[in-house]
Amino acid sequence: GGGESHCPRDASYKDGTLQVDLMGMDGVIGVQETEEGWLALVEPRVTMQTLVRATLPYGLMPPVVPEFRHITVGGAIAGIAGESGSFRHGFFHDAIAGMEVVLGDGNIVTATADNEFSDLFFALPGSYGTLGIITAVTIRLVAAKPFVAMSYEHFDDVLEFALHLANGEKREDLDFLEGIGFSSSSLVACEGRMVDTESAQSGIFGDVRRLN
Ligand SMILES: Cc1cc2nc3c(=O)[nH]c(=O)nc-3n(C[C@H](O)[C@H](O)[C@H](O)COP(=O)(O)OP(=O)(O)OC[C@H]3O[C@@H](n4cnc5c(N)ncnc54)[C@H](O)[C@@H]3O)c2cc1C
Repeated sequence: GGGESHCPRDASYKDGTLQVDLMGMDGVIGVQETEEGWLALVEPRVTMQTLVRATLPYGLMPPVVPEFRHITVGGAIAGIAGESGSFRHGFFHDAIAGMEVVLGDGNIVTATADNEFSDLFFALPGSYGTLGIITAVTIRLVAAKPFVAMSYEHFDDVLEFALHLANGEKREDLDFLEGIGFSSSSLVACEGRMVDTESAQSGIFGDVRRLN
């Protein structure tokens, strides 16, 4: 993390380990349409802000964008990250198509879900830098619209609130969903929908703000 880590975990597990400085590896290598759909190829220190700024001009975004803008791609994979798109798309790493990894013996491998390094591919998320150093990542992208319209629903019953969130996946109109509990009797479901224009939707759904 180079002193910029957002990881809330006690870092003592790194005591006595070899530290490798990745600070220069913060470039977006490309955004490209392939046989597998639109992909972004990035270095691991690319932040969520930089990533989204590179993809939005194409009308695209990663399916899950952790909210804090300085979280990095490598940190979001190795430290696990989710966000309000996760109810539909899973974790940030569920959109990863492949990773270039430097192993402890110095070998450089490319791990995908179905090649000889698939065990590494599935073990890297949540491994906190213990299995290798991710040096490049291919991310699947989805369509984005320029605005997000938000609406908020209040609940005073935890079970009703939990069922509402659990059923979100079935609601095709929703792009973003998360809940905040202020107390066991004051809970709010925050629902977001991507929309094309500010004026057309704001009266229907409530506040609208720019995606970037
Ligand atoms: C203010 C704040 C807001 C947050 N918001 C969100 C949020 O909206 N959604 C969410 O899900 N989480 C959130 N988090 C948690 C955060 O996403 C995770 O802690 C994430 O792991 C931090 O990533 P980072 O880029 O800071 O990585 P770091 O803290 O630098 O790294 C995290 C772990 O990954 C390892 N690692 C980093 N890069 C690599 C690499 N290239 N190869 C191998 N291992 C690597 C590190 O060694 C470390 O163990 C937030 C945390 C804070 C403090």
